[in-house]
Amino acid sequence: MTRDLSTRILHADRAAGIEHGATHKPLHVATGYGYERTADLVSVFQGEKSGYVYGRQGNPTTAALEAKVTLMEEAVGTVSFATGMAAIVSTMMALLKAGDHVVASRFLFGNTASWFNTLQQMGCEATLVDATDAKNVEQALRPNTRMVFTETIANPRTQVADLEGIGKLCTPRGIVYIVDNTLTTPHLFRPKAVGASLVIHSLSKGICGHGNALGGSVSDTGLFDWDKYPNLLPVYRKGPPTAWGLLQIRKKGLRDLGGTLSAEHGHRIATGAETLTLRMDRTCANALAVAQCLEKQPLVSKVHYPGLASHAQHERAGKLFGGFGGLLSFETVDGCDPNDVLDALQLVIKSSHLGDNRTLALPAARTIFWEMGQEMRQSMDIAESLIRVSLGIEATADLVADFEQAFAKLTKK
Ligand SMILES: *Cc1c(COP(=O)(O)O)cnc(C)c1O
Repeated sequence: MTRDLSTRILHADRAAGIEHGATHKPLHVATGYGYERTADLVSVFQGEKSGYVYGRQGNPTTAALEAKVTLMEEAVGTVSFATGMAAIVSTMMALLKAGDHVVASRFLFGNTASWFNTLQQMGCEATLVDATDAKNVEQALRPNTRMVFTETIANPRTQVADLEGIGKLCTPRGIVYIVDNTLTTPHLFRPKAVGASLVIHSLSKGICGHGNALGGSVSDTGLFDWDKYPNLLPVYRKGPPTAWGLLQIRKKGLRDLGGTLSAEHGHRIATGAETLTLRMDRTCANALAVAQCLEKQPLVSKVHYPGLASHAQHERAGKLFGGFGGLLSFETVDGCDPNDVLDALQLVIKSSHLGDNRTLALPAARTIFWEMGQEMRQSMDIAESLIRVSLGIEATADLVADFEQAFAKLTKK
């Protein structure tokens, strides 16, 4: 019997066996691991036996979190990292070589967009396209394209990528298809269903939920044929090919680059994950209620939320996802300054970050998308007045009331 995701998350640690009958995996803080027999230490080093050698490559606490993410994504394995950015950068560094080409959505989390500049400086080519239509991705493909990267619902403008169409392009061509599932979380969407090879998470966001830990992960869905991937080193082509990609990511991306998730943060993320399904349902309901409230405000010119019928990919989101997500953004009319709107809010916190239990908002163009400049913002469809709101789990009525009182104050002025 396949139990519900919420049930399986709660019992994942116990299913793997926990010391002393503890109900969840304890914190393992040792840096090193000792063996009675030298031969065992050697076997672990050589990958013949599983075990731990040094904390930079993981420990039992982070391994338990990795198993939980693997379960959530119905994947074959997961490697955790110190942050979502560490997961993205380390995965690409581990799998790409100078001269390779990557196609990515041009609607991306700002730091991911910034990373694509760095990748180009390091001798890889990257083409950023409007990934809401797979035709644009197809036109950008070249003989040396190794990877396609997209988010599910783009942060902050909420464009929904043509996830199915892109999967159909990548699979027959042997291109690694990477989906950043941070905004949807495994409760709303599993990228494996559209043919993704690797699934990235910023665990700092919805999966942790409490805004008290940073982490990232990459999971292998088991769909990619690593035997055909030219950049895998012979030393990692051992055992079943489904494990080769993650092995190289763990060795080159985690061990050599060193962006390791700490046991403390891994433990907090694992605890947060226990309530993922409950929290996501509430944030989705809150986002829809606030989006509908914003649509009625004369000072708001546009509301971007996939759950609204006015959203360009509303139908696609409804078909692909089990909910429309906890993030929305909106634009104000000329003469209404986004800072004034935010300052009029009493409950909502003016803060970066998203996927927190508390509702957070910020003027996107002036903060997280400031450094890239207006031209780049325009290409990403980010209006200068855009306000991003990440919904928390507060009572819906309290949130709607906060936005209503804020706009009432501003209209009176
Ligand atoms: C926040 C975020 C990241 C980066 O994650 P960190 O844990 O902050 O490094 C990557 N992708 C998306 C979609 C994000 O929202």
